[in-house]
Amino acid sequence: MSEYWVSQGRKMCSYCRCWIADNKASINFHEQGKKHKENVKLKLDELRKKGLQDSRNKNAEADAMAAIERAAMESFKKDIGAGSSSAYGSVSLTDDSKLPKSEPARAAEKEDKSSEDGNKEYKVDEIV
Ligand SMILES: [Zn+2]
Repeated sequence: MSEYWVSQGRKMCSYCRCWIADNKASINFHEQGKKHKENVKLKLDELRKKGLQDSRNKNAEADAMAAIERAAMESFKKDIGAGSSSAYGSVSLTDDSKLPKSEPARAAEKEDKSSEDGNKEYKVDEIV
């Protein structure tokens, strides 16, 4: 950041936000001025405070990131656990998938037989 903004033969002191004639004498006179020195000091203090705030924010961000990473790790561990259990689940699912395939077929067969039996019984009743 440049301390001075040059414009039409004048300079603006960024500390005091005031215009100075663009010549060494005027600049030196301004920089030796009590008001300018105070403004420089205030500006430096402000920058220092901002620097502290920034570093605090960075720490807060680091804490937040660490918390996010911890949460991510926990969910990752849970995923691993879920993955392993689902792996077991998939094994039981393959067993289950074999059973339901045979069971509905049997049930269907039973239903068919029972319906046939029913028809037969009905037919028998009809005959009797
Ligand atoms: Zn100044």
